[in-house]
Formats: sequence, structure tokens, C-alpha cells
Amino acid sequence: MKDNSKKENVKQFSPESLMMSFGYKPELSEGAIKCPIFQTSTFVFKNAEEGKAFFELAYGLRKKNEGEEMGLIYSRLNNPDLEILENRLCLWDRAEEAASFVSGMAAISTAFLTFLKPGDALIYSKPVYGGTDYFVNNILPSYGIKTYGFLAGVSNEEIINTVGKDARVKMIFIETPANPTNSLIDLGEASNIARHYSNDDSKCLLAVDNTYLGPVWQHPLAHGADLILYSATKFISGHSDVIAGACLGSHKLIEQVKVMRTFMGSMASPFVVWLLMRSLETLKIRMERQVKNAKVVAEFLQSHPRVQKVYYLGFLREKEDAKAFKIFKNQCLSAGSMISFDIKGGEKEAFLFLNSLELFHLAVSLGSTESLAEHPASMTHSDILPEDQMQMGISPQMVRLSIGVENADDLVWDLSQALEK
Ligand SMILES: *Cc1c(COP(=O)(O)O)cnc(C)c1O
Repeated sequence: MKDNSKKENVKQFSPESLMMSFGYKPELSEGAIKCPIFQTSTFVFKNAEEGKAFFELAYGLRKKNEGEEMGLIYSRLNNPDLEILENRLCLWDRAEEAASFVSGMAAISTAFLTFLKPGDALIYSKPVYGGTDYFVNNILPSYGIKTYGFLAGVSNEEIINTVGKDARVKMIFIETPANPTNSLIDLGEASNIARHYSNDDSKCLLAVDNTYLGPVWQHPLAHGADLILYSATKFISGHSDVIAGACLGSHKLIEQVKVMRTFMGSMASPFVVWLLMRSLETLKIRMERQVKNAKVVAEFLQSHPRVQKVYYLGFLREKEDAKAFKIFKNQCLSAGSMISFDIKGGEKEAFLFLNSLELFHLAVSLGSTESLAEHPASMTHSDILPEDQMQMGISPQMVRLSIGVENADDLVWDLSQALEK
């Protein structure tokens, strides 16, 4: 079972120091140093009175007594592995509570359905992850939810004017840095839009997909966000062997998300969560190494004659990119390890390059220990109309790289030989 009682005392340690042990009591599991996989669907009550008391809390029939914890009932509602993982995820973002999901899309869609009702409206940044884009443009409207998309750089005034007075905006959803262009959106400005649409009766929430830089390099709750969403498939898992997701925020909001999760059945499974706990132990060192490697790779690409333009946060300049530079300094703790670049030529040259790679794998997804390369226009973002792609800066020349933990010289060697082709 989880242990929150010592939370205040252990706060002094950094998250990376707590990832091996936080929230787990060996004495409750035969002294095992590692949290076992609680591969069980249901939990035995000590007696009928206990079962009754647990259900009263689970169904909100009464308030918790002083110090009372939600008891274990059934693994769709709660499970020790899920609770411990969720406590550990909270440490990076300094969130009060987290909910783990079977995928990033399950986290995103469950959060949407928790807070958006027929007649409500959603404002979102463009581009967003392809699955999110599909859900926002095809599924939410079929439930009577209006959606309005905006490119990075559009002012709050323009957004508010375009959306109009009649829309009942209940959520602002943004992805920053955006995939695959690394364009940035100011979290503080986005929280101002959310505030504009909030009143005493109802709050408009700012939700941020923090998959690209989080949870180590960007902490949206500290910049006015209400909810953070993750595809834990990416950096959090980091080994390309798990699909999972998470949603973080205040107790009040995440309790509502967990109610929807219970009835959608979109929670993660104990084994997946156990793998994520194992991954979290090395999250920071993986991400640090990936950042180091990415810097070497970006500098190599920048100086290569066959490369037209490199999209990398580390290249933002105070004078030339004043606005983006300011956002970067204010809300990002590192340039991360995602790089896109335009190769000279078009799709043909991009494909020749991709087909020539020997160490990089040609695959979508990101954030893993191995380096990956893909072609956004024809792969991850192929669902977006060509004219919209161009507007977002996704051209047929663009290649996206996710940099792993390999030897940086080997990565440069591979890119160099593929560019020579
Ligand atoms: C991959 C991804 C998702 C979707 O997550 P899944 O785990 O694949 O469901 C959402 N947002 C971003 C930014 C992603 O990269």
C-alpha cells in the first residue's frame, strides 16, 4: 500500500533520488526491496464492515475520516502498483495527484470527456499530436463540443475575437514544444486565456500535453496549467516496450478524472505500471544523456551543406527569435532531444536519407533509448491536409529525429553517411 504519511519529511530529496523507493513499504511485501507486481483483479476484505467502508468512500457516499486512506477494492478502481507509480510521477511536476492510463490517448480522451460536455467549447494549439488532432476534430464535435485551433504566435486578443462571445469555453489544450516543429507556446499567456473564460461558477482549465520535454525539463503546473497530460509511452517509459499515459493536477481535478477512468476502464495495468516504475529510476540520466547527444547532432546538422534548416530549441537566438527565446528561457529547463530538419530537396531526398540510415531506426514514436527517424508529412502528420501542413511548417523536406542514449560520434557518423547518399 502507498505511504503518504512521510511525504513532508522526504520532500527534501530530489525526484531522481526518490524514484527507487518513494511510496513503497518493503515490510508490507515480505521485505522485497522492489515493489512486486500486484497482478490481481480483486482484493479480499478483512470483514464485511471493511468492505462497506471502502465502498462508501469509493462511491463518495461519505467524506474520508481523519487520516483514512481509500481501501483496495478492485483493480479498475485502484491497485498498489498504480498508486505508487502515481505518487512518484507527482514528484517531478510537484502535482498533488496523478492518474495512470493504458495509453497517452486514453489519458487525453478521458480528460476531455471528464471536463467537456455537449454545448461546451475547446480551444487548442496547432499542431497537436495526430491522435489528439483526430479526437478534437472528429470525435468531440460528434458529442456537440465545438473546437477552435490556433497556431503558435497568434495573440490572445485574436483568439478571443475569433472564438466569439457565445462560446462556452471550458478547456484550453496546448502542446508545447509542438511536434514536429518545436514551436513554443507561452504557458502564462495560455493561462490568461483560461482565466478570461473562467467565472465564479465554472473554471476554464488549461491542459498541457507535456510529452515532449516533461517530466524532467518542463513543469507546466508552475506556469499556470491545471492539468498535465503525458504519453508515458515516450520518455517516461523510454524503452519502446510499453504503451501508457498519465494525467496530473490537483486532488480536486484528478479525483474527477479518476471517476471517469473507473467507468471508461482506461486505467493502466499492474505489469505496465511496474515497467514504468523501473523506467522512472533512470529517467533523469536517460534524459540528460539524450540532451547531450542531441546538442552534438544538432550542431552537426546545422553545419552540413545538404541541410537547409534545423528546428532545435538550442538554436533559438535572443535577437532573431526574441519571442520564442523568451518563452524558452522562462518555461523550458533544457533544449530537449527532439530535432527536426529540412533536407535540401523534397520527399525523394528525405526518403533516400531515411532509407540509408544504419544505426537510427526508421520508426515513429520518440523519447526512447534508441535513436529514431521519421518523415512527419507522410507518417505521423499525414492525416493533416497538405495546405495545413505547410502552414504549420511541416514540409515534404522535413525529417524528425528522436535522439537516444547511444555514443554521439556513432550517431553523427550515421547521419553523415546517410546525408552523403
Ligand atoms: C505519442 C503521443 C501521444 C499519444 O500517446 P500514446 O501513448 O501513443 O497513446 C500524445 N501526445 C504526444 C505529444 C505524443 O507524442
